[in-house]
Amino acid sequence: MRANAPSRLVLLGHPVSHSLSPLLQGAALATAGIDLVYEAVDVAPQRLEQELASLVAAGAAGNATIPHKEAVARICDRLTPTAAIAEAANVWWVEDGELVGDNTDVPGFHILAQRVLACPPNCERVALLGAGGAAAAVLTAIGDWHGSTVRVYNREPGRARRLAARYPDVARAETVVEEALVGATIVVNATPIGLLDEGFPVAIDQIPDGAAVIDLVYRQGDTPWVRAARERGHRAGDGLAMLVEQAALSFERWFGREPDRRAMWSAVT
Ligand code: NAP
Repeated sequence: MRANAPSRLVLLGHPVSHSLSPLLQGAALATAGIDLVYEAVDVAPQRLEQELASLVAAGAAGNATIPHKEAVARICDRLTPTAAIAEAANVWWVEDGELVGDNTDVPGFHILAQRVLACPPNCERVALLGAGGAAAAVLTAIGDWHGSTVRVYNREPGRARRLAARYPDVARAETVVEEALVGATIVVNATPIGLLDEGFPVAIDQIPDGAAVIDLVYRQGDTPWVRAARERGHRAGDGLAMLVEQAALSFERWFGREPDRRAMWSAVT
């Protein structure tokens, strides 16, 4: 256990009631015998800085979710290199009196991709749909993939252009989705399409033959897009593996030891 283990664990989001993180972290804490409750707290953006300051003063640590990841990164005294590249922090804690932020969505996406591909990614051509915080985590992860490139498509093209410009070695923005999909070996959904509806970010017949399909959105029993892609013979997976991995790595940042990932999986499947 770290010398300055947290007195409270808090997920900051707005809204936050839909989150599976309390279930995941509750299972990890129980199996580790740590007597803490992981609380989801709904904080409006204008109250974030004040809320975080009082939590830090009380010895808390935690996570951040929509829409606070970028703001938390700006507030932190120090960022890990991964969070600095992504310009977003989904996990925060206090170390040597400083508020530290990391981004465990980045390794979480890497684990999800390996799981869907069933091998390490190599020379991939990725079509990335969406240009928000999750898309930045995807690009940060792919920056470490050997010989891989990304074409970013977003319904608001300026946002795709700005995001791609932050990753000039790997990314290029496309204004037409068909251009992003040409020759793709992996198609990634980093929009919320499919979260609360039955929509598809792109039609299955637009996905190139043999391409793997990765949906950051998750639902119990897979998202409709992932189910449809599998039916057409694509390797496909939804965002649950990424969610579990980012949570497990958050636990490691707070407590300096690995949680029981199997217990975490059981809590959400
Ligand atoms: P965000 O920062 O709000 O960005 C959302 C992106 O999706 C933007 O590019 C937005 O485009 C686009 N978008 C939103 N609604 C759309 C629609 N109806 N049609 C087309 N594009 C749409 O959100 P985020 O943090 O990147 O999260 C995106 C999704 O990833 C969420 O559903 C979240 O649940 C999921 N996620 C999963 C994990 C995991 O662990 N599995 C981790 C992080 C995020 P505009 O710029 O045009 O608005």
